[in-house]
Amino acid sequence: MIKCPQTGRAIPTGIKADRGSFRCSAVFFARTHCSICQTNHDWFAKEAWVNEPSVE
Ligand SMILES: [Zn+2]
Repeated sequence: MIKCPQTGRAIPTGIKADRGSFRCSAVFFARTHCSICQTNHDWFAKEAWVNEPSVE
């Protein structure tokens, strides 16, 4: 998930990754189409987080 810079809402990146592999790609860079703004946002992995259904 990333935080939309325009609305501050969480949006899915569309990329599936577990926390371990996600953290390994610290300089990972991607572009995701935001369904809220209808635009593309560029983001770095360090700004994003993995959406975990069961938080603990
Ligand atoms: Zn947005």
